[in-house]
Amino acid sequence: MISKNRFKRNLQVFQSCDKEYKDSSVVIFSSPMDATCSFRPGTRFAGPAIRQDSIGMEWYSPYFNMDLKDYGTCDIGDLDLPMGDVEKDLKEISRVTSLILKDGKKTMMIGGEHLVTLGTIREYVKKYKDLNIIHFDAHTDLREEFLGRELSHATVLRKCYDLLDGGTIYQFGIRSGDRSEFEWAKTHIHQHLFDTEGLDEAIEALKDKPVYITIDLDVLDPSVFPGTGTPEAGGITFKELEAAILKMRKLNNIVGADMVELSPDYDTSHVSTQVACKVLRELVLLLHSHDNN
Ligand code: MN
Ligand code: MN
Repeated sequence: MISKNRFKRNLQVFQSCDKEYKDSSVVIFSSPMDATCSFRPGTRFAGPAIRQDSIGMEWYSPYFNMDLKDYGTCDIGDLDLPMGDVEKDLKEISRVTSLILKDGKKTMMIGGEHLVTLGTIREYVKKYKDLNIIHFDAHTDLREEFLGRELSHATVLRKCYDLLDGGTIYQFGIRSGDRSEFEWAKTHIHQHLFDTEGLDEAIEALKDKPVYITIDLDVLDPSVFPGTGTPEAGGITFKELEAAILKMRKLNNIVGADMVELSPDYDTSHVSTQVACKVLRELVLLLHSHDNN
């Protein structure tokens, strides 16, 4: 069980996600880690920024025709991560993930930089032997190492791949990386460049398999989402991402998700944070979309 003290420390939760832990099938937490950002840091502030700005967002989604407040979701806030010690940060993310998974719930993690995903995947592969990952990103994140370090937001999906046993990775929106990463992808994973084409086939192939979804928000075009550390021109629109999230309702076994790389202070208009709030609302509803079946 997650300690009750966690709740007392939260001044704010993500819009209407204030149910008791015991009554929740989805648990939101944020991982304030940006130790390996290759360009501009600041993603550690995403969780609190999203909670604050979610006040201005409706809990009803006309896309899903579902109300956030009708579902069992609790938000346990920012994890206490020892800043700058990457392996310890990941261990804490794994520890909390394992507690939530043991209680039969799904995690909905807010980054942080993308490396936080490795912390959850380390636990998910223990519970789901043939786990698959659907990954939206501007960047391949498939390097074996970056600037001499194995653990980086530029290597995270490669490190996740190494943990998979039978499952694989489907990438969408990719438009930036080293030539060798694109070559490696051709023979190891399903990589879809520039947009979300190919998602229907991926959903068909993964229909009854356990699937974890990771959305690096820089998959969106910088005109839609400038508040991130490594913006890449040529991204998808919000409508394309929303359509992709809606389509994934056809997957019968989505086991968890995360949304990473919002760096709120790079967009003082708060539009990027609002976009992140809306993506998070839709992801939480996606995780609940089979609750009544
Ligand atoms: Mn990424
Ligand atoms: Mn990225």
